[in-house]
Amino acid sequence: MSEKRVVFQLGTEIVTVTGMTNTTAIVWFRRDLRLADNPAFFEALKLFETVVPVYIWSPEEDSRWAPGAASRVWLYHSLEALANAMAEKQSRLILRRGEALPALQTLIKDTGATAVFWNRLYEPSVNEQDAGVEKALRSDGVECEIFPGNLLLEPWDSRKKDDTAYRVFTPFANALKEKLDDIKADPAPGVMSAVPPEIYSDDLESFDLLPKIERAGGIQEAWTFGEAGGQAALKDFIQNGLGGYSKTRNLPAMEDGVSRLSPYLHFGEISIRHVWADVSKARAKLSGAEQKSADVYLKELLWREFSHHLLFHFPTMPDKPLREEFSRYRWATSGTQLKAWQRGQTGYPIVDAGMRQLWETGWMHNRVRMIVGSFLIKDLGIEWQTGEEWFWDSLVDADLAQNAMNWQWVAGSGADASPFFRIFNPVTQGKKFDPEGEYVRRYVPELKDMPAKWIHAPFDAPGEVLEGADVKLGDNYPKPIVDHDEARKQALANYQKIR
Ligand code: FAD
Repeated sequence: MSEKRVVFQLGTEIVTVTGMTNTTAIVWFRRDLRLADNPAFFEALKLFETVVPVYIWSPEEDSRWAPGAASRVWLYHSLEALANAMAEKQSRLILRRGEALPALQTLIKDTGATAVFWNRLYEPSVNEQDAGVEKALRSDGVECEIFPGNLLLEPWDSRKKDDTAYRVFTPFANALKEKLDDIKADPAPGVMSAVPPEIYSDDLESFDLLPKIERAGGIQEAWTFGEAGGQAALKDFIQNGLGGYSKTRNLPAMEDGVSRLSPYLHFGEISIRHVWADVSKARAKLSGAEQKSADVYLKELLWREFSHHLLFHFPTMPDKPLREEFSRYRWATSGTQLKAWQRGQTGYPIVDAGMRQLWETGWMHNRVRMIVGSFLIKDLGIEWQTGEEWFWDSLVDADLAQNAMNWQWVAGSGADASPFFRIFNPVTQGKKFDPEGEYVRRYVPELKDMPAKWIHAPFDAPGEVLEGADVKLGDNYPKPIVDHDEARKQALANYQKIR
């Protein structure tokens, strides 16, 4: 064996490391679809002459929470982008379909690899699977190296002093912040090793990730996928959005009022360490209100961390209320009202705009997620898990921890959740956060000519206003499917029964 030299580039900084030749490792890519700050890939390239990157598509292994339709569209493009980025550096992303362990074992045979490197994921079922893969590979005599994945801190390192999990956000965030001063992101490898041409790869098309329906088109138009898209979104947000974030983050009509990094973070096209480090650096150059704004943004990243902390320690969170009494709540079973919600046909414009934004682009603004969530749970009386499942299928950023924590937050059944009696009024929320009705007009074109004064409550508008805007309630735009005040009273009465 002889020595191997590899050069990495981070901005203008060049790093040279040495390892051993004549060796092969596999790097198993999952939700870390990037080159920069990818510790498993970085380390493998340092140490092995040949590094074979592989992505294994095995949705059957997690049948309850396999990626939903919108996530699959994202995944398709993300894999395509990663494969292109690797090809530019003379590497090749190998694709395989089937259960992870046998797929890895076959690839080990095909390549003669002696080691498999991967970055950790934290969902309970994935954790269990990973432990099984690791055990089996080790017993085959294969070295396994597993690295911290897509969190700022491992969930077991962010426990309380008495070694129990946090259930309240603020003490969790305060304790975590103290440990994050040294967060850094690794560079992207400058040079990669070639993958021998005889190593077989499945075709991306064979994963069948793209639906045959119109919706995929909307998602494709709305986003720039892949690591380059994530890096560009971060840069753009730091330059143009960060300083004003605390003011703009609640305005759904302002597309660049938030960072829109969530799908990139979910798929690991950008690393959370990278986002934290760059935003912290930018924050240091700001002052006054702009610096406070950066703090608000960093706090949102800690909510992401908190959700993963909760899921790790309370693995039933996606299915069961964390507050036991909510399992006795009497939920409604209305099929037609649920369909109206899913299709953006409730007659409440801000709700309909949000649900249509979700359908068309695979993403919904956070403020509107809270409004539509409250509407489903409290106005329609439908249980939060139904909303969670619809979001799971429809969001490009669908994330088990974040989705479950937030649905339980809206329902009032989670850890540190919004109290149940906080019931959003869709009309006042609309007026407050979309005062000109711009967001509603964008996604509910039937109402485009309604004056701002009435756009959030067309059902209260005088006949001549409706006529002037060519809105025929119950014809080209629905009448409200429930009376909000009545529904609110009913929800509170139901809640009294479980307290
Ligand atoms: P920004 O405002 O720019 O925030 C930056 C990042 O902070 C986000 O990308 C996200 O990673 C994190 N973040 C922000 N708000 C939250 C929050 N409330 N909880 C946890 N992390 C947060 N987010 C997901 O990524 N996946 C989901 O499946 C998901 N489901 C949700 C369901 C409901 C009912 C609600 C109310 C919220 C949900 N969120 C989810 C949280 C939030 O709406 C999105 O993270 C945010 O809208 C993404 O847009 P952004 O990247 O522009 O956010």
